[in-house]
Order: sequence, then C-alpha cells, then structure tokens
Amino acid sequence: SDSQSKETILSRHRTAAEEVVSDHTQLYIGGEWQDAASGETFDTLDPTTGEVLASVPRGRAEDVDRAIEAAWDTYEREWSETTTSERQAVLLEIADRVEAHSEELAKLETLDNGKTLMEARIDMNTTAEQFRYFAGVVESDRGQTEDGDGYHGKVIHEPYGVVGQIIPWNFPLAMASWKLAPALAAGNCSVIKPAEQTPLSLLRLMELVDDVVPDGVVNVVTGYGEEAGAPLSKHEGVRKIAFTGSTVVGKQIMRNAADNVTDVTLELGGKSPIVVHEDADPQAAVETIAFAIFANTGECCEAGSRLFVHEDVADDVLEGLIGAAEGMTVGDPLDEATDLGPKVSHEQVERTTNYLESAREGGAEFLAGGEPPEDEALEDGCFVAPTLVEGLDHEHEAVQEEIFGPVLEVFRWEDYDEMMTLANDVDYGLAGGVITNDIEKADRTAHDIEAGYIWVNTWHEMSPGLPYGGYKQSGIGRELSVDTLDHYTQTKSIKYGLH
Ligand code: NAD
Repeated sequence: SDSQSKETILSRHRTAAEEVVSDHTQLYIGGEWQDAASGETFDTLDPTTGEVLASVPRGRAEDVDRAIEAAWDTYEREWSETTTSERQAVLLEIADRVEAHSEELAKLETLDNGKTLMEARIDMNTTAEQFRYFAGVVESDRGQTEDGDGYHGKVIHEPYGVVGQIIPWNFPLAMASWKLAPALAAGNCSVIKPAEQTPLSLLRLMELVDDVVPDGVVNVVTGYGEEAGAPLSKHEGVRKIAFTGSTVVGKQIMRNAADNVTDVTLELGGKSPIVVHEDADPQAAVETIAFAIFANTGECCEAGSRLFVHEDVADDVLEGLIGAAEGMTVGDPLDEATDLGPKVSHEQVERTTNYLESAREGGAEFLAGGEPPEDEALEDGCFVAPTLVEGLDHEHEAVQEEIFGPVLEVFRWEDYDEMMTLANDVDYGLAGGVITNDIEKADRTAHDIEAGYIWVNTWHEMSPGLPYGGYKQSGIGRELSVDTLDHYTQTKSIKYGLH
C-alpha cells in the first residue's frame, strides 16, 4: 500500500527522527553530558531504514570509573541521607515525566528498536507504572525486631551504595525502569549501561528528569558489552550488578562479579513452552499463541516459542495459526497498520536466518514464513517473516536454543507425561503457559512446567506486584514486586545487650 512504500517509509522516519532524536546523546555522568575519555563514538541505527539516528560515545573502562566515582560521591554526600518520602517524590515525578512525554519516547523507541508504535506505547506505560509502584513500596517498613532474654534485636535493610545495571535492547526503557526504580527506591545510586543498539530512550529520559534526579544518582555509560559492560561487572566499586540479556553473557558477568563477591541478579533467555489441552477453544488458543510468539517481533525473553498442542485440536489450531501468521502486516513500525516491525539489527536477522537454515537441514517443514518478506520497500530493513516450524527433533539446536525472533516450533501430543518431559527438556526455565478451560488441567500444567512465570490462557502480561524471573539457566533472583528490594539492600542485624 502507499503508506508502506519505500519513499513514504523513509520520509516518515526522517521526519520522526528530526522530531524526537535529541542533541544530548552523550554519556550522562554526575548530571553532566560528557564525551567518552577516548573521544570515540559509534552509530545507533534505525532498523527499519538502515539510516543513522545518532552517534553516541563509545564508553570504556575509564568512563565507567568516572561514573562509579560520581555515583559514590553523590551517595555519600547526599543520596544516603534522603528519607523514603524524598525518594518517593523523585520516583513519582519520574513517572509523571514519562507519562507526559510518552508519545515522544515511544516514537524514539520505535525508531531505535523497530518495535511498533503500539508496542512502544505499552512499554512507556510499563515504565511509568514501575516508578510509581516502587514509589509505593519504598515507604513500606520491612524492619523486624526480636526481644529475648537479656537482649533487644532489630533487623534493618541498608542500600548497597552503588549498583551496576546492564540493559538489553528488546525493551530499552521498560528494562531500565525495572532496574532503576527498585535501585533508587532502596536508596542506591546507579551506573547503568544501555544496549549499544538502543541507547536513545534512556538518554532522553535522563534529559527529561535532569532537574528531578540529583546529579550522580543515575549515571549512563553508553558503549559495547566487552568495553563498557565488562568493566562495570568487574569493578570493585560496584556492590551489586543486575543484568538482563543472553545466558552466555550472564555467565561471564557472574564470573566477573565473583572476583569481588559482588551480588548478582540475572534475567536471561528463555525457550518457553505453550501447552494446549484437548478441550481448548481453537480460535481463542490461536490468538493467545500468536501473541505469545509474535509480539515485539519475537524479541521477548518470555516469548512462547515451543508449542505443544494436543492432537485432538492440532489441525484446527495450526490452520488458525497459519492464517494468523500469513495475515500479519510486516512493515514500517511507525505505520499504525503494521503488526510486525523489523528486528533490532542485521546481526539479529542473521542469527534468526541461521537457525532457520539449520532447521531446514534438520528436516523441518515450514507451515508459514521461513523466508524474508518479499517486499522491495523493506529491503534495507531488518525484516523477517512470522514463521511456523513443524517436524523438528526436540534435540535440534533450533528447538533447544533461543532464536529471539518470530519463530514458533510446533509439537503434537497425546500422552501428557511424555509431552511434559519434552516441555521441560531445555536448559531454560523463564516462563511457560497453558491453554485450557479446565481448571484442574490448568493447575496441574502450571505446577509441572519448570519455570518462574506461568500464564493461563494469556501471555506476556506482567503485574508490578508479581515477581518475575527464571528457573534453571534463565536466571537468578527476581524483578518486579516488593521482593526486588531484597536484591537492592543488604541486611543488618543489631543486637542490644540488656544486662
Ligand atoms: P547480549 O547479552 O550480548 O547483550 C545484552 C547487554 O549486555 C547489552 O547491553 C550488551 O552490551 C551487554 N554485554 C554484552 N557482552 C557483555 C559483557 N561481556 N559484559 C557485560 N555486558 C555485556 O545480547 P545480544 O548479543 O544483543 O543478543 C544475543 C541474544 O541474547 C539474543 O539473540 C537473545 O537470544 C538474547 N537476549 C535476551 C534478552 C532477554 O531479555 N533475556 C535480551 C537481549 C538478548
């Protein structure tokens, strides 16, 4: 259509970039916009058009040092003295500013990441909600006391001081908010590294809250993983490190952190099973499954990427899914008619394509997709088609490993126990889901899946109050919920002798 022609897309993106990309795309340290010590920069690209959106400092160890110093300085001088109400006011104001600028921030994420505008708007709501939720829990008194024979004891929770936070590119601002809101609520200062693919929304947020957040409370170091992320995870001045991203990097971060016995929380990959029982309504199942795998172009750690559908409903469900996949509009994420935007980068497209190639060699049948979309208007962008794969051995690498794209692998089942053995036969355990109208089946499957988050007849929806995190190699620790404060504080017992 006209709204999806190459010229229209290009001009729409250039106009939007002019409107929302700020001049302040530098390191944000101690409240000041700064270049990297080396003076080097790198470009962040628009995955829809391939054009450069901005160039950003290529931070390295010396920049990380500077940021950590600024964070400790603010912590000792100012932030550690704040009351919970003062921190609460800061968090509420951040939420208000996100909300007031949500359309602009959403557009910026659509340009930098490629997610559709509609998806980006949801992320901005999530972001504001996070700051508001932790503004609430910051006021809850989690202290305890104990009185015994000849003593009075109390337990207090103190902030770590300075924490390091490393963010992925799939939900740039929402993931930053999951980390910043609890860290600040608990009284810490942060040094945060956005992903090199998507640094712009976090930098813009810091510009928007510059007068609200005291200088040095949040310090942003942009850069590559090895160059800026690794020094952060190794640094003696960081007392806790929080990471979201791949399992491979998560392991490296844990090894680095071990040298200083730094506390870590890791939110890693997933390969989550969707279990459809024989009583499921096929149409309702199709909607939930399509959303589980195709939302955010499949770039979700919690995506439902392995479908286990009962033989009795398999034909109906698969027919519906093929229709859903083929009916999706793949294209410009700024166009409201688009269902599936591009992936974040050409590198990520290649990763997905390699898995599809290997699946083909492994005897897979492609029920839908499998090839890049045939559309000249999209040829410079990072597009892949919604894809359904059947007939792979469950041991195959395309089944065992995280593809992180809009690719669903399908398995039919009749024997529940055999199916559940396969459903749990991956190294991951982030999420899972079950589709049925039978409460006993739902409950049994929810208990049987080895994962930290289970959806019944829905997917992706998370609530600030429900802890989120992985079993097995999907991670350590939880985010969201009041539990997260435990990961951002250390516990001190004080015992008074009453002799
Ligand atoms: P990644 O894990 O390399 O990157 C995530 C973040 O970690 C980025 O900020 C990156 O700069 C940083 N990083 C990379 N190497 C580092 C190191 N040695 N030390 C410290 N920080 C480091 O992810 P990727 O390469 O962009 O994507 C690869 C795969 O990871 C994806 O295909 C997907 O399977 C998975 N992934 C998962 C999530 C998630 O939400 N769980 C998010 C992004 C990617």
